[in-house]
Amino acid sequence: MPSVSCKDVGLDCSFEAHGTTNQELMRKFIDHAEPAHDMHYLSADIIYRVQKAIKK
Ligand SMILES: [Zn+2]
Repeated sequence: MPSVSCKDVGLDCSFEAHGTTNQELMRKFIDHAEPAHDMHYLSADIIYRVQKAIKK
């Protein structure tokens, strides 16, 4: 199952998202990052870093 953690993206946080697809993973990560890291929108840079950090 693909997963990505906040640490992989450079955030000091132990959150780790799991999803069956990359889209589900991104949605779960965004659901966490928006309130937890005050990211009201995710920049292209963050999305790129998340996609590169996804472990299959
Ligand atoms: Zn986090």
